[in-house]
Amino acid sequence: MARLRVDPGVKGRLGAEGLASLKRELRAVDCQTCGRAFGRWEPAALTVEAVGDDAVASLHHPKCAPPGWHDLETTDRLRQLPHQTWRAALLTLAAHGHDDLMFLVNPAYEVARLTRDAGRWQVSTMELFAHCGLGLELLDGVIPLPALSAVVDTDRLTVDVSLLGTVVERWDVAGPSFPPQAAAILATKDWLTILVTTALDAGETVRHNPVPSLLKSKQVRLGAAAVHYTEAAQRLRPTDFAEGDRWTELLALIHASVELATGAEPATGVLEAAMACCHGDSGPITQLPPQDRTVASAFVAQSYESQNVGGVHVMVPDAAAAAAYLQLFSGLSEMTGSSAALLTREPAGEDILAEFEADVVIGTPEQFVATYEQHRQNAGDWGPDETRARLALTVSADVRRRAGELLARYPRTAIV
Ligand SMILES: [Zn+2]
Repeated sequence: MARLRVDPGVKGRLGAEGLASLKRELRAVDCQTCGRAFGRWEPAALTVEAVGDDAVASLHHPKCAPPGWHDLETTDRLRQLPHQTWRAALLTLAAHGHDDLMFLVNPAYEVARLTRDAGRWQVSTMELFAHCGLGLELLDGVIPLPALSAVVDTDRLTVDVSLLGTVVERWDVAGPSFPPQAAAILATKDWLTILVTTALDAGETVRHNPVPSLLKSKQVRLGAAAVHYTEAAQRLRPTDFAEGDRWTELLALIHASVELATGAEPATGVLEAAMACCHGDSGPITQLPPQDRTVASAFVAQSYESQNVGGVHVMVPDAAAAAAYLQLFSGLSEMTGSSAALLTREPAGEDILAEFEADVVIGTPEQFVATYEQHRQNAGDWGPDETRARLALTVSADVRRRAGELLARYPRTAIV
């Protein structure tokens, strides 16, 4: 913490204890008036503006804003603070034999909220997050909150905090801070634990797991954010598949399996269309006649399923299409060893449909939506799920539309 310039008026109102707790919170990164960084040895002026029992403390270059306490009539008069620094990082923590991922953020470096209670001013920056439902226990970090959302893009992870439908905070990690390994861990579950704290600098390398001590000192708020993916992030790409000979061998195996299962050699163009789809181009596959499209989809699903952790969901327009897909995939499963199952009914009560856990699951989008909802409510186990489907294949753009928001939950999607 840089040296602080504190006015006697501020000292008098906050008291030694209040001032000490404020000093622990504040970090002098940028001046809240001009937005420029503080020099290494430059003191920061502490300015407090109060309206009734609420106040905002902020740091400035002494030349930009002198230290002092200002009582204001209304919140309209509060100074705008557009230069507030926040920093976020992804923590990879080993837990129960697998790597888990958490999003750590310090939302306020040079700004702190204060509240007066029974005549004493106390730091209350974290109260906004308590208000949004974030809690003080580890369990609070696994149950998705309506106030939190996480969106995964190709090289960026963005977390939003909403209050009454308005986004009040938005943080992200991008580029090298959001490596493919992090995306891979994220794909094993459909929520992300968000840790909000003003007690440490999230921009510094975290050497030890900070969570236990933060929890112990109650200096953190935890919540889980439902994870969604942008369409760009969901596109299949070459890195999802083995390269060169390995992929050629695999395709040859699938080719032979398709021939055995259908009693005919795949038509010309089927393999090429499937490979284009695996590289993010669904153009050729959607031009194929229905029968060949089914076969090409099987190539995509089997290639993906055999090279990636997690299953494939095939969303079809109707029961007739479902039957055709099941026949082909069941035939293939005898040779490839991956299981295929059909969603035949909407789930009822507390039973978890075993079909939902198959390597390849086939059904209408409506059946997937209902099964997902039921699964989420009854699964009980909030841990990462290795069997979770990573890829959704939607047969036609209309099926994609019918799947609605559910589709955004898959790390990868393709129209086939
Ligand atoms: Zn300044």
